[in-house]
Amino acid sequence: MIQRTQDEQVRVLDDAQAVAHVESSRQMRLVREFRFEAAHRLPNAPSGHKCGRLHGHSFRVELACEGQIDPRTGWLLDFAEIKQAFAPLWSQLDHHYLNEIEGLENPTAENLARWIWHGLKSSLPTLSQVNVAETCTARCEYRG
Ligand SMILES: [Zn+2]
Repeated sequence: MIQRTQDEQVRVLDDAQAVAHVESSRQMRLVREFRFEAAHRLPNAPSGHKCGRLHGHSFRVELACEGQIDPRTGWLLDFAEIKQAFAPLWSQLDHHYLNEIEGLENPTAENLARWIWHGLKSSLPTLSQVNVAETCTARCEYRG
């Protein structure tokens, strides 16, 4: 038989409250993935580098948003809000020559990630990370 003292009962209550506090303050992270096709060349690549030649990629962009879950809706935000915020930028990128876009004269994955970040942050305040992949095996991650 286990006998609990008054102190033990108080400690158990404190543990339960601590768990509840951790759960209510935990950050949720949503990630939505997009793809677009585009051509580019990297004008500042070293002489003879293959990326200096005109070529194309099937770019993959991952947009991550972080924050707390709305207790009423049960979500951080609607995934559709991420798509809606990115749509104007996606339209500028898809099937375009990236070097012709203002701010992307040197369209490395790094510069593209920053361009997307600055284009999105005001309309998507919970944005926490932009990933840009040119290939299946390499990507750039930008956290502002
Ligand atoms: Zn490339």
